Amino acid sequence: MEAGRKISGAIPLRVDFVRKGIKTIYPVLLCDGEHRILVDCGYPGGLPLLERASEEAGIPFREITGVIVTHHDYDHCGTLADIKEKYPRVTTMASGPDALVIEGKEKSVRLRQTQSVLIYLSELERRRADEIRAEFESMKPARIDAVVEGGDVMPWCGGTEIIATPGHLPGHISMFVRNEKTVITGDALVALLGRLHAASPRYSFDIETARLSAKKLLSLDADRFICYHGGVVDR
Ligand SMILES: [Zn+2]
Repeated sequence: MEAGRKISGAIPLRVDFVRKGIKTIYPVLLCDGEHRILVDCGYPGGLPLLERASEEAGIPFREITGVIVTHHDYDHCGTLADIKEKYPRVTTMASGPDALVIEGKEKSVRLRQTQSVLIYLSELERRRADEIRAEFESMKPARIDAVVEGGDVMPWCGGTEIIATPGHLPGHISMFVRNEKTVITGDALVALLGRLHAASPRYSFDIETARLSAKKLLSLDADRFICYHGGVVDR
C-alpha cells in the first residue's frame, strides 16, 4: 500500500478457508476516518487468515475498531472470541437474539432444530448434522459489547443502516451502506455465478421469511451487493 493512501468505503475481503475443500468467504471492512468495522469473521481458528486478508487490503488488523456479525453461524462468528482475546478494545456487535447464542447463554435455534429432526434423517444427513453440532461446539463463547437491531443507523461510512433480515436465522441482520449504495447481505442473499439468490432453503430456519427478507434487500436503492458466500454482484 502507498504511504498515506486513504482507505474508505465498503471493502470486501476474499478469504479461502480449507474445510473439506476450499470454502471462500467474503467478510467486509467498513472504513472511514474514524472506524474500521469488520462485518463477519469466518470459521473457528481462522483469525490468522483474516489478519492476512485485512493486511493485504491495506488495513493492519490492529486498526479494527469493531466487529459486527450478521448471525451466529460458525462460519460468520467463529473467530470472534479469538479476536476479542487478542484485540480486547474491539467492540463486538450482534442482534439481540444472536448475542445470547454467541455469548453462550442460549443454544442455537439451528442446533435445536437439527437435533429435533434427527430421528427422521438418513445416515448421510445425520452425519452432516453431527458435523454441524461439532462445529458449533468448537466455537468459544464471545462477549457482545453492543446489541443492534433493524432500523439502527451506525455512523460508519457516513451512515450504515442495519436491516433486519430474519429467515436464515431469526436474528439475522444485513447492512445498507447508503452513500455507497452497497448492501452487505450476510446470508440473506448469496451469489451464484454472478446472480443473487435467497438464502439456501436447506440452511434456512424459516424459508418463507427468508424469501421476504431477500425481497426487502433487493428493493433497496443499491448498486452493489456483497454476499458472504459468492462475493460481489453489481446491478
Ligand atoms: Zn454462512
